[in-house]
Amino acid sequence: MKFGTKVIHAGIKPDPASGAIMTPIYQTSTYVQASPGEHKGYEYARTQNPTRTVLENNLAALENGVAGICFSSGMAAMDAVLKLLQPGDEIIATNDLYGGSYRLITTIYEKFGLKGHFIDMSDVKAVSSKINEKTKLIWIETPTNPMLNIIDVKAICKVAQKKGILTCVDNTFASPYLQTPIDMGADIVLHSATKYLGGHSDVVLGALVVKDEELAEKLYFIQNSSGAVPGPQDCFLILRGIKTLHLRMERSCKNAKRIAKYLNKHPKVGKVYYPGFKSHPNHEIAKKQMNDFGGMISFDLTDDDYDVAQKVLSNTKLFSLAESLGGVESLIGHPASMTHASIPREERLKVGLTDSLIRLSVGIEDADDLIEDLEKALVNI
Ligand SMILES: *Cc1c(COP(=O)(O)O)cnc(C)c1O
Repeated sequence: MKFGTKVIHAGIKPDPASGAIMTPIYQTSTYVQASPGEHKGYEYARTQNPTRTVLENNLAALENGVAGICFSSGMAAMDAVLKLLQPGDEIIATNDLYGGSYRLITTIYEKFGLKGHFIDMSDVKAVSSKINEKTKLIWIETPTNPMLNIIDVKAICKVAQKKGILTCVDNTFASPYLQTPIDMGADIVLHSATKYLGGHSDVVLGALVVKDEELAEKLYFIQNSSGAVPGPQDCFLILRGIKTLHLRMERSCKNAKRIAKYLNKHPKVGKVYYPGFKSHPNHEIAKKQMNDFGGMISFDLTDDDYDVAQKVLSNTKLFSLAESLGGVESLIGHPASMTHASIPREERLKVGLTDSLIRLSVGIEDADDLIEDLEKALVNI
């Protein structure tokens, strides 16, 4: 089955009870048993819920894995992965990482004896040289946030596999429309379904997809034991969002390509970070492992000033100033004052995250209007 069919049909059947074509929202906490232990596969809603099961099966199909496991948020999904580890274990992670992921590894799990090493993973050798006997998990995020570096998933998973180290790829920025990490050798794929999968900025949900049954069993056990499960209404909304994932991604990628080209020629714009440019340092890997270059763009200003950047952010009308990404509407953000404010300035500058760096999540509006909006915002600085 091709991707555009999978999003609508994989794991989804009309409701057996009524024939409803849309998966019903099973708003229940428990299920009646005919006699003790004699039931229809559902006992208690933390453990299983039919709406959630459909979403989990659909996600497994989209990511070419064997099972999907859903959580109340992307961070809850990551929390479950970290619970596979033991005190003393070490994690190697992307240095240009989602802030919440960095916080979970350091602030929360360091006190339980885990240790994180954060490195530039676009250099595969740097990953190999950081591995020791305590390394139990390699955490990849690609494209990275906000610098949009591309990490060679296949090369890193190969190194990890040889040493029996678990790999998890946060596929939130790309979505399975652009890349399927399990096909590149990853053990686990993570999604903040809050972003592209849901696609309408109206729900928070997380998911894991795994490559084998053994991992699925372990993670279902953690899901049920810790209990950070999503409600059925939220599962329904993600299922509904996924049905148009391919169309939204196609449009968002197309818009981003036009906007990146426009920004690249603009006299007030400094550097444009977009993996679709031939000049992007990881363009060849992006071409190899992704079906397109995504809907995210970062750029800074020739007048590299914190306040000037903030002016651009207040000037746009269609691009809304907000955290998050991946919705139908375009968003604009300022990493230095928003998502990455907790990182010391010198550290930020080292990776190119300048004071004027602006991040765009390009939505599916008409590209002409989006460009006009940016033009008006840039003229007035
Ligand atoms: C938003 C995000 C998360 C966290 O997901 P939540 O659903 O907000 O908990 C993790 N990784 C990436 C890349 C994200 O953008």
